[in-house]
Amino acid sequence: MRTVYLNGQFLPENEAKISIFDRSFLFADGVYEVTSVLEGKLIDFKGHMTRLQRSLSELNYEFKPDIDQLLEAHRELIKLNNITEGLIYLQVSRGSAGDRDFAIKKDTQPTIVMFTQEKSLIKSPLAERGQKIITFPDIRWRRSDIKTVQLLYASLLKTEAAAKGADDAWMLLDGFVTEGSSNNAYIVTEDGTIVTRELSNDILHGITRASVLKCAEELQLKIEERHFTLEEAQNAKEAFSTSASGFVCPVAEIDGKKIGEGVPGPIAKRLREIYIKANLDTAI
Ligand code: PMP
Repeated sequence: MRTVYLNGQFLPENEAKISIFDRSFLFADGVYEVTSVLEGKLIDFKGHMTRLQRSLSELNYEFKPDIDQLLEAHRELIKLNNITEGLIYLQVSRGSAGDRDFAIKKDTQPTIVMFTQEKSLIKSPLAERGQKIITFPDIRWRRSDIKTVQLLYASLLKTEAAAKGADDAWMLLDGFVTEGSSNNAYIVTEDGTIVTRELSNDILHGITRASVLKCAEELQLKIEERHFTLEEAQNAKEAFSTSASGFVCPVAEIDGKKIGEGVPGPIAKRLREIYIKANLDTAI
């Protein structure tokens, strides 16, 4: 049984309980981060905590997390659960005001939850064969830059994609790709330029995205941060996605159309290797 974290305590997972009035349960009033663990160490912890602070501040939380304490708690959970490779989920909700009320009350205590998921990340059959993607309209609220637990649409899309024999969903807004159900989306053009949608309220500002673009820059690859259409994606040389759990994951097919040769492309494969190596070096 896992040991999980709840408001400063480490508990067996079946003993961690929160109020039915918690605003994350009633209103999806909570934000989260997922940090990957390789060789027992945290990948890009600082980046994830900076985004956590931004998500909280965009939603007017009064609560300011103590990042040193959260780092200690992450490390303790890794130790208690003996994790060498996997993920740590951290959720901060606005907590319970003791009743259901749309209007947000001042001075509620946040609920802080953390748990581990043991998972093989570096060795990935999906990354080796390349993902099959299906596209869907992006009908999410227009603050997709805030990492809230309001994940029902993404969850429905992933389920529908799987039911149709695909691995994941990419979303389209006005004909342009925004991002994947739980990852950022990229294509590589004929001349080897990496294209990904620019940062705005329409996509999550991926921590892996920032790191991978830095790796690409160091390799002197050309990068364009701009909108791209489904058609451009389907005719691209390569496509891939990035996320903390999937790293760089090549795409083999979009809406039934093979991308390039229909196998992982050289740029995506190279970026995956370099991203993993660079982040192992700086893991804490
Ligand atoms: N977009 C969405 C919608 C996501 O859910 C995620 C993963 N949480 C990402 C992008 C990738 O972000 P990161 O690289 O920080 O995991």
